[in-house]
Amino acid sequence: MRLYDSLTRELHEVVPVDGQTVKIYSCGPTVYRYIHIGNMRSFMLGDLIRRALRYEGKVVEWIMNITDVGHMTDEVSDAGRDKMELAEADEGLTAAQIAAKYTEAFLEDADLVGIERANLYPRATDHIQEMIDLIGILIAKGHAYEVDGSVYYDVTTFPGYGKLSGNTLDQLRAGHRQELAVDPAKRHPEDFALWKKSGPNRALRWPSPWGDGFPGWHIECSAMSMKHLGERFDIHTGGNDNKFPHHEDEIAQSEGAVGHQVVSIWVHGGFLQMSGQKMAKSAKNIYRVTDLATMASIRSLSACSASARSTAARWTSAGRRSRARTGGSISSADGWPSGRPGRRNSAPRRLPWTIDSATRSPTICRCRAPWLS
Ligand SMILES: [Zn+2]
Repeated sequence: MRLYDSLTRELHEVVPVDGQTVKIYSCGPTVYRYIHIGNMRSFMLGDLIRRALRYEGKVVEWIMNITDVGHMTDEVSDAGRDKMELAEADEGLTAAQIAAKYTEAFLEDADLVGIERANLYPRATDHIQEMIDLIGILIAKGHAYEVDGSVYYDVTTFPGYGKLSGNTLDQLRAGHRQELAVDPAKRHPEDFALWKKSGPNRALRWPSPWGDGFPGWHIECSAMSMKHLGERFDIHTGGNDNKFPHHEDEIAQSEGAVGHQVVSIWVHGGFLQMSGQKMAKSAKNIYRVTDLATMASIRSLSACSASARSTAARWTSAGRRSRARTGGSISSADGWPSGRPGRRNSAPRRLPWTIDSATRSPTICRCRAPWLS
């Protein structure tokens, strides 16, 4: 298999660096709310690569992190609020309860679209010590500095900064000149936080050599990827929006700490478009997997009865069987239960594709997936 490497902008053959196992790290969800199908498209990428490699006879290890601390609402400047704390205030639950609730929901949604479980889902809050150790190494090597309980990465010490995203320091400096507020503790506006001092009201906090605080978002992926996959591994995936600052900063951290290339191939997935726009909460065009099931169950009855008599007949018999099983009536097609988005038990029992008996390949059934037409 050859993959397009976002860093070198070239196709690269996948050859396991240890000669045995292809090791893949995928940036996973920040578990502070339900994920939408645009997020899901990014998470599916790692699974697709793993399945294709396995088909070629390769042994694959795939891990996906769970972010439950440190992902700020403003990713570029490290300003704003921790998304987990924001959800705490909204829902009246503790950060741990929020993380547990949305991790479970994420795994259920991933199951529904057929993403096979990863070998491991390491959580950021289980790796605070590894992050502290890594930050200590970066300080010792002159890549990071502490100011009043917070630690920042000095991007001028890493000559390759910008090589993934194209955001070179010159370009970033030009951008920062337009900004009104820059954290005065930073030596350079482009520096980013590795560890942040916690305020008095913050619950998510841990002791560190620099005082009580919490890790930045990017350091978790350096710490967890290298802990579980080693200092050299094969493939790192994420969405296009992870390139900057998240993966640019991960490269600076990991390579700054170990002194060599860590990831062989960077793979980034494009955005899922809805009506010509990126699917995003701000665009108000997001759907959870369970929303699609509900939409399909409402629309598919009329669409299919008009266009596919045989399919409709299949549904009728499926419905009869289902009614016979449950002793009640069903309002949806093909055994898909009705339900409102976001509710448990509103999940589809069947997915909108079938296996073509001639080609043995998955075929999308437009009758069951009317949002495609
Ligand atoms: Zn990540």
